[in-house]
Amino acid sequence: MLPFARVTIIGLGLIGSSIARAVQATMPTVRLTGHDASPEVRERVRELGFVDDVTDTAGASVVDADLVILCVPVGAMGAVGAEIAADLPADAIVSDVGSSKISVLAALAEALPGATIIPAHPVAGTENSGPDAGFATLFNGRWCIVTPPEGADATAVERVEIFWKRLGADVERMDPKHHDLVLAVTSHLPHLIAYTIVGTASDMEEVTQSEVIKYSAGGFRDFTRIAASDPTMWRDVFLSNKDAVLEMLQRFSEDLTVLQRAIRWGDGDALFDLFTRTRAVRRSIIEQGQDDAAPDFGRSH
Ligand code: NAP
Repeated sequence: MLPFARVTIIGLGLIGSSIARAVQATMPTVRLTGHDASPEVRERVRELGFVDDVTDTAGASVVDADLVILCVPVGAMGAVGAEIAADLPADAIVSDVGSSKISVLAALAEALPGATIIPAHPVAGTENSGPDAGFATLFNGRWCIVTPPEGADATAVERVEIFWKRLGADVERMDPKHHDLVLAVTSHLPHLIAYTIVGTASDMEEVTQSEVIKYSAGGFRDFTRIAASDPTMWRDVFLSNKDAVLEMLQRFSEDLTVLQRAIRWGDGDALFDLFTRTRAVRRSIIEQGQDDAAPDFGRSH
């Protein structure tokens, strides 16, 4: 049994287009409608053909939907909610893929009073954006965290979970506040660190830009992949998950000070112990199938 028959995707970039392609591949009888604010994206999606219908307004895209998934930057969720409010069928479920959950839930609840809202976050992505960047297997073996609000309709939550399992994801249910804290440390802080390191290297005067690029294989290169992620998306993530990110940043700065002291005082044991523990974390990630051990994060050049 398919969990939904008519799915609407608003925001047809990396994540939205990957969902559409995965639905086409795994649930080909589902009718897919898409909308994106950008006329160029809509035009490109018509050429690519991974949805049955592309509408010029958000409202027109939801009129007969039984699932609507918002795949726009986190800061745009409330505005899109308001755009579809008048046309949303009473029995439709509204979900999203935003990287932070408390602020999105609040924005959608305000824009869509009385609607069934079941937020979710597929923990899968790349540093690329736009409808050409998506692919059907993006969610295979990746976690999708479903964060229903208190008192959410149990059947609606189950249908959203079945939908994500059909797309290949492993599903976990989580409280939105806990989600935001977990993702602050596993995703948001690493992006902030990558943005900082790449920014610092490009501002240095003693080391030339060409040297930074030439010798990047020493570690810098892996940070540049993360720091190439979409600026709009990440600006919104930091502004919307402010409290959890600031809390994790505080802990990170304290740990960095401890390392600074260990280096200053020549405490090799402290450095060795930490690096041994962190190596074990990498091993666990590989053992649990969340990455492979091939060099350069398993990416082909
Ligand atoms: P993306 O490739 O930039 O796609 C977002 C699309 O939404 C763009 O085509 C954008 O058009 C469109 N858009 C922006 N505002 C809109 C509006 N008001 N109405 C309709 N369309 C609008 O971004 P993405 O990587 O797919 O990210 C989408 C969402 O997924 C974000 O909430 C992000 O937090 C979440 N997410 C991302 C990742 C990741 O790794 N990238 C992973 C998990 C979850 P314009 O380009 O013209 O603005």
